[in-house]
Amino acid sequence: MVVSGSWGRAARGAMLLGDNGQLSPTIFAEMSALAVSTGAINLGQGFPDEDGPPEVLEAARKAIADGVNQYPPGRGIPALRTAIADHQRRFYGLEFDPDTEVLVTAGATEALASVLLALTDNGDEVVTFEPFYDAYGALIGLGRARHVTVPLRAPNFQPDPDDLRAAVTDRTRIILINSPHNPTGTVLGRETLELIVELAHQHDALIVTDEVYEHLTFGVPHIPVATLPGARERTISISSGGKTFSTTGWKIGWITAPSSYVDAIVAVKQFLTYVNGAPFQPAIAVGLGLPDSFFIGAAATLQAKRDLLSAGLMDAGFAVTLPQAGYFVVADAAPLGYSDSAALSRELPALAGVVAVPLTAFVREDKREPYRSLLRFAYCKREDVLRQAVAQLGGLTRVAGR
Ligand code: PMP
Ligand code: GLN
Repeated sequence: MVVSGSWGRAARGAMLLGDNGQLSPTIFAEMSALAVSTGAINLGQGFPDEDGPPEVLEAARKAIADGVNQYPPGRGIPALRTAIADHQRRFYGLEFDPDTEVLVTAGATEALASVLLALTDNGDEVVTFEPFYDAYGALIGLGRARHVTVPLRAPNFQPDPDDLRAAVTDRTRIILINSPHNPTGTVLGRETLELIVELAHQHDALIVTDEVYEHLTFGVPHIPVATLPGARERTISISSGGKTFSTTGWKIGWITAPSSYVDAIVAVKQFLTYVNGAPFQPAIAVGLGLPDSFFIGAAATLQAKRDLLSAGLMDAGFAVTLPQAGYFVVADAAPLGYSDSAALSRELPALAGVVAVPLTAFVREDKREPYRSLLRFAYCKREDVLRQAVAQLGGLTRVAGR
């Protein structure tokens, strides 16, 4: 990776990134700004509009009051690293040493950044699904790696095994998977995960798995790839407290991986943020130790919201793929006569007082065609807000093809 030197040099690095040759503003900030400027209901950026468990919030308040306000240790406070290791054992039967195999990061985003910067060299290939969470493309580019993708096609958005086999080669350094998946809500099944592990062995690649929606699945099990035979020793698992505990602004994430990888990742991470979120770390430790009823309840509440918004979108005339997990539902505007969701997302505040994100924002320019009429709506919002959005979307009328 070459990011040292003058601004000019760094900027030239960045110029390599986007389709238009630039690092463009993230779609989430753009759409939230649109919601603020128009007063529309923000179903764009994925953040809850209600607070999470009171015990977790109270633990943060207490930590601040108790003076937990200075730099925590570089790898995270021991109580949180222990809570993360306990969580991996409790939910998945995975054993990690809290001292050497767990690292606390500034959200899953810093975990992704430090993993990609630490473990790829100029020209290494990183395989992801496409659509992909926007940071993946930018971070792979910042590390000067090559981004190779496997399409997730509508309507079921599951990867085709032959596409996976074709994408992973001896040039692949990392297979970066995301299950449950943003933006499609796809959950990878055991067979697909087995194929990924097999390909990683065959081509001596690492598996990096982004599992930030691990607790928010609807009737399908989340299978961490690290639990599969032969996977643990070459897998770096990433998660975050933001989604599970409705604390996206706290940015407490983590990595669990064999110690040699953690050491390499720390070497980069120490120069990104060094550390973050001192009082939030003990609070997330409390969250990870909450009883099963909390985790089951969080998924059930979200599932009801998924159902409410999905039904409303269908009634409004969209074609909807019901997501298996996560915060988002993908809706096709083609039946309403809209073939360009990027244009529609700019008009939607005026047409229906709602903001959504075009799926093309998760797809590179030359791969956009099959995704052109698709929009992503967030349902991690209060029920009354979703009802209002559904009522407003119900007023959309069919247009004569545009
Ligand atoms: N990965 C995925 C798939 C996401 O949707 C998000 C956004 N929440 C992140 C990573 C970033 O997580 P964090 O806010 O913990 O950095
Ligand atoms: N993960 C959130 C989403 O997909 C947003 C995170 C961000 O704004 N960077 O909407």
